Amino acid sequence: MQSLGEKAWGLVLRNGLLPIGDLVFGQRMMRRLRFLEQAPWWDFERLAAERNRALQHLVQVAYAEVPLYRELMDKACVRPDEIQTPDDLQRLPVVTKELLRENYPARTTRKTGRRVFEARTSGSTGTNFRVAHDNYTAGWYRASFLSALGWAGWRFGERHVQTGMAYARSFQKKLKDWLLSCHYVPANKLDDASLDQTREAMEDRRINHLRGYPSSLYYLARRAREKGWNRPLASLVTWGGNLYPHYRRTMEDVFKVRVHDTYGCAEGIQISAQCGCGDTYHVHALDTVLELLDQDGRPVSPGEPGHVVLTRLHPGPMPLIRYRVGDIARAGTAARCACGRGFPTMAGIQGRDTDVVVTPSGKRLIVHFFTGILEHFSEVGSFQVVQQRPEAMLLRIKPTPTYSKTVERTLIGRLRELGADDLAIEVETVTELALTPGGKRRFTISQLAQRPDR
Ligand SMILES: [Zn+2]
Repeated sequence: MQSLGEKAWGLVLRNGLLPIGDLVFGQRMMRRLRFLEQAPWWDFERLAAERNRALQHLVQVAYAEVPLYRELMDKACVRPDEIQTPDDLQRLPVVTKELLRENYPARTTRKTGRRVFEARTSGSTGTNFRVAHDNYTAGWYRASFLSALGWAGWRFGERHVQTGMAYARSFQKKLKDWLLSCHYVPANKLDDASLDQTREAMEDRRINHLRGYPSSLYYLARRAREKGWNRPLASLVTWGGNLYPHYRRTMEDVFKVRVHDTYGCAEGIQISAQCGCGDTYHVHALDTVLELLDQDGRPVSPGEPGHVVLTRLHPGPMPLIRYRVGDIARAGTAARCACGRGFPTMAGIQGRDTDVVVTPSGKRLIVHFFTGILEHFSEVGSFQVVQQRPEAMLLRIKPTPTYSKTVERTLIGRLRELGADDLAIEVETVTELALTPGGKRRFTISQLAQRPDR
């Protein structure tokens, strides 16, 4: 389905422009991508050796240069050279967001000689949190993400629609969109007129690839079906939200293509991605060690849900070792997947709660609508949105000491301006937000009658 023009442009990107971009930005994305296109096919022993080498280096660096990890390892009476394999990690304590936040930045970061930038995120738990990155770290996760797009069938040069949270793209992002033939659509534009515009752009430009949040692509699929869409697409990749079974069914039915879900976290780690064999996710094993642990910190059995604990194998400016993300995922089996990739597997993600808030005029506000606005308010420690009635929503806020009524008014104004204009917004400040029985905080809870077609 790739046109000649797309093929040629893909070659220019892969072999010319993107490697030059890497030089300019001081990252090694394309080199890493080439490596990641080979590595999943290695035998288990070679993969394990490569992973262990990276793990040992990470632990050495963290012990030597990051005070928090040195202290934790000293307390646990573990020397860095005693951590040789992922099994050895169980000797170290699990690190929480709270611990990293309290010690940031002096005791959690190290100098890499590169310019550092901060990812501010409300993460997947609704709690504001900062992680330091540099371009080298970013090159790694970008490469992993590109490799997962390759698993789904996308090649450089191929035109695609991408949905994302930003309302307006920066100049650099626009340039990137143009280079990569990306038709960008804000994920919160889910009214019928906007969905029709996107569908028409797909027709006009013969776009065969879709990627973005499950909810936005699901609504696009539904609208496309209403309008009689009958062209099969070549790839559909989702991330950043719960891929409900009815979302997947609808998208696969309308666009006649397998949905490949990917799982990453805003802390700058691509964790896993689907290969297309059943529901299997492959862990990006040379980026991260994934542990799934029960309440007592023991690894769960295959198929069982466990708390996601990550060790990013690239140290970067802020090493993450046994970092508890706040998600829950189900463990895979040790058998090699039918696709032939040797990366370990994960059976599914169950901890991303993304109920949709629907406004009286029919606008659908997905979790990213709220996180995209609230993460810019440092006065908000964490939050939760509850829709109890069709015309109103309740915003529960756990404030930080700088929170005030003025902040509250600004925040409500921002929510109204960007989409929640026809909802009554009540704010309640609380000292603690309730967790689900699985220990997970839900961002958005719709208490309206459950309709599977919402
Ligand atoms: Zn597979």
